[in-house]
Amino acid sequence: MEKESVILIVDDVSSNIEVLASVLKDDYQIKVAQSGAKALEIVLHKPVPDLILLDVEMPGMDGFEVLKQLQSNSMTKHIPVIFITSYNTTEEEEKGLLKGAVDYITKPIRPVIVKARIKTHITIKNQRDALIYTSSHDQLTGLYNRHHLNEEGGRKFSRAQRNQDKLSVIMIDIDHFKVVNDTYGHLSGDNVLVAVSSLFNKFKRNEDFATRYGGEEFLIVLDNCGLAHAKEKAENLRIRIENLRPDGIEISASFGIAEFNARHNTFEELLKDADSALYKAKNSGRNLVLEYLQD
Ligand code: GH3
Ligand code: MG
Ligand code: MG
Ligand code: MG
Repeated sequence: MEKESVILIVDDVSSNIEVLASVLKDDYQIKVAQSGAKALEIVLHKPVPDLILLDVEMPGMDGFEVLKQLQSNSMTKHIPVIFITSYNTTEEEEKGLLKGAVDYITKPIRPVIVKARIKTHITIKNQRDALIYTSSHDQLTGLYNRHHLNEEGGRKFSRAQRNQDKLSVIMIDIDHFKVVNDTYGHLSGDNVLVAVSSLFNKFKRNEDFATRYGGEEFLIVLDNCGLAHAKEKAENLRIRIENLRPDGIEISASFGIAEFNARHNTFEELLKDADSALYKAKNSGRNLVLEYLQD
C-alpha cells in the first residue's frame, strides 16, 4: 500500500481546523496545531508532515513568521506550505508566494478546489521524495550510494575536524567475487551482494553509515569511533560474512581501516588510507582486517 501522506493543519480557530480536516481526513493522515509555536514543535515529531496548511492570521506568531522559522531549519525547510487566509487581496497573495509558500488558498474553504490543489502538491512532494531517494541510494542493495557518501562523508569529516571528534572508515571488498559470478551466475552474485548489505544494516549503530562504494565494495563511516573500536567492528563483520553462506555460497571479504587524524585534509584522503590498507589485506591472503599504518 502506498504511504499515507501526512498533512499538518495550523489555525488558531478550531472550527476552521475542523472544516479542513473533514475535507481531507479520508485521504490523508491529519495533524493539527492551534498556534504557530505549537506547529513548530509538532512539525519535528514523526511522522513528519508532507504538507502544511498554515493560517496567516494568528495571535502571537503569525503564519509569515512560522514559515520563516520553518525555512531556517534544515529539518523543515523542504516541507511545502500552503497559506490559508481570509485576506483576499492580490498583495497578500503575492506576499505569501514571494515568501516561499507553494500556494495560497482563501477562506471560506471550497472543498473541491482545496482537495484538488492539495492533491497536486502532495503528488509533487511524493515525486520529489522519490527522486531524492533514488539519487542517494543503490538500487540493488538499498544502501546509500557513492554520490551520497561523497556529500555526507564530507560533512562528517568537516564536523570531526571542527570538533576534534573521532571518525573511522572501514572499506570492504568481497574476495574473488568474479569467481562467484563465473561459478554461480550473475543473479546469484546479486543475491550475495544483497545478503552482505543486509548484514551491514543489521549490525550498525544509528550513527554508522553504510554505503555501496562500487560493484562489490562497501564503505562504512563510523562517527565518534576510534581505530580499536573500528577494528573490533570489522573483525566481527568479517566473521559474519565468512559464516553467512548466502544460497550456500562460501564467501569472504577483506577489510581496510583508517582513522581520521591531523594529516588528513579531506575525506578523500582518509578513504585513500583505508583503500591502501585494503590493498594490503588483499595481498596478505584476503579474508583479513588490516588498518592503515604510516610508513
Ligand atoms: P578480489 O578478491 O581481488 O577483490 O577479486 P574480485 O574477483 O572480487 O575482484 P574483481 O575486481 O576482479 O572483480 C569484481 C567483480 O564484481 C567483477 C564484476 O563483474 C563483479 N560485480 C560488480 N558489480 C556487480 C553487481 O552488481 N552484480 C554482480 N553479480 N557482480 C558484480
Ligand atoms: Mg486565524
Ligand atoms: Mg573490488
Ligand atoms: Mg573483490
